[in-house]
Amino acid sequence: MAPTFKILSAAAIITLAAACAKHDNHQSNFQKRQVLTPGGRDEKDWAYPESYDWGSINSNYSLCQMGTQQAPIPLALDQGLSQRHRPDFVGFPSNVTGNFYNWGYGPAYTIAHEDGRFNTLPSMTFDNKTVYLRGWHIHAPADHTVGGVRSRAELHYVMVDSAGHEAAVLALRLDPGQTPSPFFSELPKPLLGFNETDQIMNQTLNPRLPLEAVDFFSEFWTYQGSLTSPPCTEGIRWFLARTILFISHEQMQALLLVSQFSARAEQQVWLHQINA
Ligand SMILES: [Zn+2]
Repeated sequence: MAPTFKILSAAAIITLAAACAKHDNHQSNFQKRQVLTPGGRDEKDWAYPESYDWGSINSNYSLCQMGTQQAPIPLALDQGLSQRHRPDFVGFPSNVTGNFYNWGYGPAYTIAHEDGRFNTLPSMTFDNKTVYLRGWHIHAPADHTVGGVRSRAELHYVMVDSAGHEAAVLALRLDPGQTPSPFFSELPKPLLGFNETDQIMNQTLNPRLPLEAVDFFSEFWTYQGSLTSPPCTEGIRWFLARTILFISHEQMQALLLVSQFSARAEQQVWLHQINA
């Protein structure tokens, strides 16, 4: 999970009437295109390949080094699966509107909502708490391993509280299989590259499709974790679906083509209270 979503702030974007040549063939899909102004994507003083060293880069990143609930952590079936904190998706919509973009490491999407009105976003509940889907992004390779096996990619549904603060992440592992994923089939073709700062505006998609593919988290691991990028803020409840979301080989190749390495080194299990 990464805190780069402020790249979407209205102040940082300008509307462009001109089409990007690369997407001319797909113009009929677009109602409006916007482009980030130069510098609109945050300059970073950290990088994923050096994630073991984030704590020494900046004093604001000390939790990355000395936190007690840092994510991701290795998971395994012999830890069992969670019987507690079960997510409930009653009323979760099958149609939302938002923006596609590339968060610099892979495909991402933010759901449109009125400023500050997070409680109008698709919601789920756990532990009598309601959290709201602000958007999603994809890491490649996966952040989490299960039994030492790392999937090719991992989809993160970022859930915020009613004030917009990150509260939970639904993590779904992605691997190549024989059948195209309906969820992936809804994404723009071609996908936006990691160097592209364009956003494709006002695009609808069905946010239930990935959840259906993993049986709405009927089996899952959960733990108390953190953001997986600086400043590594803790207090995030992680849910990792046991079921893998399979996409076709072609879809996986298209995904990897627009992705950059974005997996944080696995952290030592400490006070994460796995499944507890
Ligand atoms: Zn993430």
